[in-house]
Amino acid sequence: MSGLKAYRFSADEMNKMLWLKVLFIENGFLVDRFPEVYYDTFNNACKEYPQLERHNEEGTPDYLGVYIFSSGDEPCLEKCSSTKEGVIILFSDRIEAFSINLIAEIAYPILEIENAIREVVLYHELGHWLSHWSVCAGVNWKCGYSSHDKITHEAFAQLTAYWAVDGQPLNSLILKQYLTPQRHTSPYNKYLDLIGKSKVDILSKLHLLRKFWCEFRISDEMAFELLKMELIEKCVSYAFEKSIRKIKLESQMLNNELAFQILAMGWSIEGDKLTCIDYDFALCKLFALNYFQDDDLKETLKFEKRYCSEDTQKGISLIHRFDL
Ligand SMILES: [Zn+2]
Repeated sequence: MSGLKAYRFSADEMNKMLWLKVLFIENGFLVDRFPEVYYDTFNNACKEYPQLERHNEEGTPDYLGVYIFSSGDEPCLEKCSSTKEGVIILFSDRIEAFSINLIAEIAYPILEIENAIREVVLYHELGHWLSHWSVCAGVNWKCGYSSHDKITHEAFAQLTAYWAVDGQPLNSLILKQYLTPQRHTSPYNKYLDLIGKSKVDILSKLHLLRKFWCEFRISDEMAFELLKMELIEKCVSYAFEKSIRKIKLESQMLNNELAFQILAMGWSIEGDKLTCIDYDFALCKLFALNYFQDDDLKETLKFEKRYCSEDTQKGISLIHRFDL
């Protein structure tokens, strides 16, 4: 329980939250309740959550509010740190001050401006909670969710706000003009690269990323690349699940025709693992021999080539050695 003031949603906000809930449910997520939301001053929030002190990037939704989670105590099989469900705090004083600053620029009554800002910030923070905590096929982001992965997390949060705002003029203006920094490197404007994508595409990738996040040590940058890419979902699943790059090769997998072919081409196994270099080499070789007739496998290969670059460099010397 928090000593902060609970937030009371407006009717518009409640409608939009239900709309978000339906959107996520239709895409396989479980949303059976919403997070705790508070509306209090930044200083009061800091008293409850001292780690907030460092939280001060202006001109972003997270300057006016926060989704704050704590670390959990159940590391996963991959020994990633786990997290607990967070709460949302909207900073009343910062939202008021921000609204006053905008009066001169926006021809709307101050109360409407303030309501719009609060709403956009709420949707952004709800985006954090939905991407972090709502379960899809038994998986959420309890494990491996880190505040360091700014691009990925802010992309999901800003996109959620963008979807919820849904073209409403004042809210859109606030989000695009005042809560999306122009600075190209800002993680808060990366969502602009994704707004043309379907919600189904984005949400299926959210599930994919969370599912494989820990096991494959997906980086923030790689996750964003995945979000931008036109992917055939089953190819990515294939790449992740069958990629021998980081998977312990189980003996029954040798029955898989592809694995057999790879092994037949002189793959070496160290312990029960195949190294990345060998895998890239084998992929290159299989590609050179036109082994990949199947479109799914071709897509998988493209995916692999893209993300094996460092090791592929090493693989190139092997290709040379094997006269390909
Ligand atoms: Zn955020």
